Amino acid sequence: MNADENRAKLAEIVRNTRVFLLDMDGTVYIEDELIGDMKNTLSALRRAGKRLVYCTNNSSKTAAEYQKKLARLGIWSEEDLVYTSGIATAEYLKEFYPGKRVYLVGTDALKGEFSDAGIALAEEDADVGVLAYDTTLTFEKLVKLNRMIVKGRPYIATHPDAVCPAKDVFPPDVGSFIELLHCSSGKYPDVICGKPYKVMGERIARRLGVAAKEICMVGDRPHTDIRFANNNEFASVLVLSGETDAETAERTPDRAGAVADSLNSLTVFL
Ligand SMILES: [Mg+2]
Repeated sequence: MNADENRAKLAEIVRNTRVFLLDMDGTVYIEDELIGDMKNTLSALRRAGKRLVYCTNNSSKTAAEYQKKLARLGIWSEEDLVYTSGIATAEYLKEFYPGKRVYLVGTDALKGEFSDAGIALAEEDADVGVLAYDTTLTFEKLVKLNRMIVKGRPYIATHPDAVCPAKDVFPPDVGSFIELLHCSSGKYPDVICGKPYKVMGERIARRLGVAAKEICMVGDRPHTDIRFANNNEFASVLVLSGETDAETAERTPDRAGAVADSLNSLTVFL
């Protein structure tokens, strides 16, 4: 796609999109710093009637914790929504395992969010095992979940990322725990809910009452953000403000609908 075609495609995407799903790190901010004039960009999108949904795979934090961070950065608005792979997992459990007892390997914050969502959590004799991004993981928790998996209980993971972005060395994320448990149990999760899979996409579309083609995912990672859009038949914009450069954007097999320097580049099409 040449520059003119890309521009035309961006204009078309902006025109047809009612809901923008925004990846956060690398798309809206980098660590604690907003990318360019993000505050005005987000305001302009809202004024143009676009709904903004911050969409993350990180299940160690709750939606409320992300809202707090976005408010601290000065970009939270009450009309926005935060949607995490943890929320997608809770909604999936309620739909497919109603009333079942869940053993959750996760942070206390996530346990609270699951309880608030009406999920019955249990430490012993649970029906379903869930693996989230547990930054308080212990050997005992691994042993318990491994036992459930070996015994054939349903096994659900919140998301597949191998590592979590960080300033220095990237720490292990759920994808690494999945490999560990595969090594010990011989099994992979029955379902993974977050990007790039469909569980999260279907639930966001359903909750907002919009068709897939009216949703656009904006993100900086082709193999999670853009693959997520393609798996769910959403429009997509790959931004070059995070971990993907122009050269990688050319080569990636996960083709985005259009490429932009950053989310800020979309405002000219409003
Ligand atoms: Mg990102």
